Amino acid sequence: MAAVPVPPPPLLASHAAVRAAASADAADVRNLSLVYTLAGVDCIDCAADASVVGAVNEGIDVAASIIPAVQRPWVMVSVNDDCRDLHFRKAEFDPEDCPLDCSKPCEKVCPAEAISLESVMVGGAHTQSDPLHGKLKGGVLPERCYGCGRCLPVCPYDRIRAVSYVRDPTTTSELLKRNDVDAIEIHTTGKGTDTFNTLLNSLRESINNVKLVAVSMPDIGESTVDFMNALYAIMEPHIQGYNLWQLDGRPMSGDIGRGATRETVSFAIHMASMSERPPGFYQLAGGTNSYTIDFLKKAGLFQSRTFPGTETSETICSQEALIGGIAYGGYARKIIGRTLRKIPAQFGRVRIEDHPEHLLEALQEALSLVGPVKGYPALSSLL
Ligand code: SF4
Ligand code: SF4
Repeated sequence: MAAVPVPPPPLLASHAAVRAAASADAADVRNLSLVYTLAGVDCIDCAADASVVGAVNEGIDVAASIIPAVQRPWVMVSVNDDCRDLHFRKAEFDPEDCPLDCSKPCEKVCPAEAISLESVMVGGAHTQSDPLHGKLKGGVLPERCYGCGRCLPVCPYDRIRAVSYVRDPTTTSELLKRNDVDAIEIHTTGKGTDTFNTLLNSLRESINNVKLVAVSMPDIGESTVDFMNALYAIMEPHIQGYNLWQLDGRPMSGDIGRGATRETVSFAIHMASMSERPPGFYQLAGGTNSYTIDFLKKAGLFQSRTFPGTETSETICSQEALIGGIAYGGYARKIIGRTLRKIPAQFGRVRIEDHPEHLLEALQEALSLVGPVKGYPALSSLL
């Protein structure tokens, strides 16, 4: 393996990343990428899908046209080695099997607005409540569903199923050869190394094109570090740049609140207590939100850096601490989504830069999340 270069300081210390979703509406991905690029994230993680990668890069390009000096975040594509990974599933049901008088709790609970249902009269005319002549149309919008699973238990008629999938390695290989893809994130379940080995072998001709190979995995208890070392032994011959461990505390739950982040930070605390950890940078994900950085700093686990002329909390974190970055997923999308939904429907949601007041509001939201990780001075101190 080639020697791992010393990382440029901003990149993997005080490193902020956003996950544009394993799958999401392309317009939202573009706008989200634009806003978080302006906010200064280091990496944007997205589905290993050419159209989604294109949407991310378009958002970054527009951000760079607004502020030419903006740092271009790395674009990271996400794949899985095993269909049991929760990030790679979608909800599915046939709305025609649903009772017309169902109160549709599935639609209400979905954080991604990925379920859309309407009642129609058989024959075409709209009806709201006639169970004899109506039916439901619509269902799950697969491009918006990111597999959080919250709709599954709320269906009173047990109509919803989860359909899992594995990203195609051939498509992934082609993406890794593009010059607008910088990194790959491999999700693994911790249930065995065979599938990881198979995936690495199938990507061996392309994986050395990227600057960073990240592995996302859950806390599997006492065997976590042994498992990580086994993964590292498999991937070491294939990687030419950096490697990153993404500690996936509580998958796809950051938008739920404070409790989700406690569970995630406890994964970091667990890792910090283990010796013989494999080489690489460490980042927290899954259950991350606006509370995460404070919890991490209080535990003395967050690496920080100081911007000249500003103050950061060096007393409660250090350059040597375990966690160098935080990846925000559902929470990052939620706070920007609130603004995107305010853009009047007649304008669509396509180009947030055409609505400067909304762009500014979204940017303030993004900075409130990214700023504490990057050590930016508080906005209030600049006004
Ligand atoms: S799995 Fe989650 S994102 Fe997908 S439809 Fe259900 S609630 Fe929505
Ligand atoms: S909750 Fe279940 S039965 Fe009701 S609309 Fe949703 S999927 Fe259909």
